[in-house]
Parts: sequence; C-alpha cells; structure tokens
Amino acid sequence: EAKNESLHDPHYFDYYLMDKLLERVQIEKKLPRALAEGEFELFYQPKINLETRTLTGLEALIRWNDPEQGRISPAAFIPIAEDSGFIVQLGEWVLREACRTNKMWQDAGHPKLPVSVNVSAIQFRHPQFVKTVESALQETGLDPKYLELEVTESLLNEPVMIKDKLDFLKSRGISLSIDDFGTGYSSIYYLKELPLQVLKIDRTFIQNTPTSTRDNSLLLSIIQLGKSLGLTVLAEGVETEEQFHFLRQHGCDQIQGFYFSRPLDSCSTAQLLAAHSD
Ligand code: C2E
Ligand code: MG
Ligand code: MG
Ligand code: MG
Repeated sequence: EAKNESLHDPHYFDYYLMDKLLERVQIEKKLPRALAEGEFELFYQPKINLETRTLTGLEALIRWNDPEQGRISPAAFIPIAEDSGFIVQLGEWVLREACRTNKMWQDAGHPKLPVSVNVSAIQFRHPQFVKTVESALQETGLDPKYLELEVTESLLNEPVMIKDKLDFLKSRGISLSIDDFGTGYSSIYYLKELPLQVLKIDRTFIQNTPTSTRDNSLLLSIIQLGKSLGLTVLAEGVETEEQFHFLRQHGCDQIQGFYFSRPLDSCSTAQLLAAHSD
C-alpha cells in the first residue's frame, strides 16, 4: 500500500524531519506572543502526606492555552523554550504567578501551604536567577517559607556553580527538591553535600509497583537512599491504591499522582484548599 511504500521512499524521513523542525520553529516564534497575550496558565497538583493523608503542598505546572491548537502540554514546549533561551522569561512569569496565587489563597484565609515551582537548569544557571526569585517574593509579599523550587538531577553535577545559589536560597527559607530522581545522573556525594530537602522519585520507578518484584526492590533502595541522606522522600505518579499502600508501608513520606488528584486549575485548587480547612 501507499503507506508502506512511503517507508522506502528516500525522501520520506526528510519530510518528516522537516515537519518536526517547522513545528519547532512555529512554537518558538509563538512563545513570546503567547506570554504577552496571557495564554499561559498554572495548574496545581497536590502533594499528600502518606501517613496522615493530608495536603502538604502544591506543585505549579504550566499549561499553554493556544487559541488555534488548544491546550499544549509543557512536554511539547518547555524543551523548545529551553533551547531558545525563552525559558528564562517564561520561568520568571511562572515564579511570580505561583507566588502571587499562593499569597492570594493565604490572604483568603486558606491553610498556608508551600507552592513548588519547576526550575529549568538553564534558568537556574542564569546569573540573575536568585535576584528573580527575590523580586517575585518581594513583589507578591509571599513568605519565602511557602516557596519551594524543583530542580533536576543533572544540575547536581555542577556543584561549584550551584552551591552558593542553593546555600543562599536555603538561608532565605526556600526549600529545594530534586525532581525526577533516578532518570538522570547525579553523584550521591553531591546529593549529600548540597542543601536539599526533598527527593522526588520519578514515576517510572512507581509505575510497575507492586506487581514487579524487581521494581519493588529498586524502589525500596531509592527510598532508603533518600532517608539515609536525611531527605523527605516523595513518590511521583502514584495512580493506584496498591501503590499508595506499598509506599506507605515502606517509609515513603509523600506522594503525588492521579490516585489522589490530577493537576487542578487555580479555581479547583482554591476549592480543594477550602475543603481542607474544615
Ligand atoms: P514534573 O515536574 O516531573 O511534573 C510531573 C508531571 O507528571 C506532570 O506533567 C503531571 O501532570 C504528571 N503526573 C502527575 N501525576 C501523574 C500520574 O499519576 N500519572 C501520570 N502518568 N502522570 C502524572 P506535566 O504537567 O505535563 O509536566 C511535565 C513536565 O514539564 C514536568 O514534569 C516539568 O518537568 C515540566 N514543567 C511543567 N511546568 C513547568 C514549569 O513551570 N517550568 C519548567 N521549567 N518546567 C515545567
Ligand atoms: Mg516537578
Ligand atoms: Mg517530576
Ligand atoms: Mg517527571
């Protein structure tokens, strides 16, 4: 058939790659305008304490409401924003928006919880990064103890660059998490030496638990590693009750995942907070 023949057409993959490239260029071009037009929105995913089943925090996750394409997932545009450098500006918006919204919830009388913001390595490396965090807090009036930053493991391999920044952020009372733990490469030595508070185990380590015994023991080792380093251990992507019980039994501290809640828009998050206070 025509479809199979196209695989033997030497130009087939060129067209495919060209399409991908054009799509990237399109997205890259659209990002600054999207920010100016207010097309970005933050959703919030609850973090739950396994022991008490109570809310311990909220993770801000960006969404793009494109007027033509509808909602575009961050997996599709964050890497492009990183390549083009636009992530610095976009990340600044995320920080301010998350701080502003959290302060607004607090002022409305909801229980005070930390909001965590994902920070790209490129953004973190930027010389103005700490200043940007400071001004987001100052302009919104959010107490720094209600802000957490999530950075990925790869950043840990640049200890000289990050040490001072992490120390300063910690001294301000801002908590730091390692996101997607287990998917990158990080030295356990740096994990011990750097001022970190939370280890977030990537959901690939949770998805086959508890049916796969090999995955179970891998997961247990990661939990133990985190605990022995004195970190709070959070499991990402918990989808089932069995996973919930397994993690609770084995000393994991917190979870996030569809089992408890998907990321919610700010309106639904406020409702969740309101329900949590009584
Ligand atoms: P992440 O920080 O590891 O966030 C967790 C992702 O897993 C989110 O996808 C969340 O919706 C999804 N998730 C949560 N629970 C479950 C579950 O039980 N099952 C499954 N299958 N998925 C679950 P999302 O929102 O699409 O974000 C993807 C990634 O994009 C994030 O991974 C983060 O790396 C990045 N990202 C999102 N928002 C931002 C942002 O504001 N700034 C930066 N730099 N990166 C962001
Ligand atoms: Mg995250
Ligand atoms: Mg993660
Ligand atoms: Mg992840």
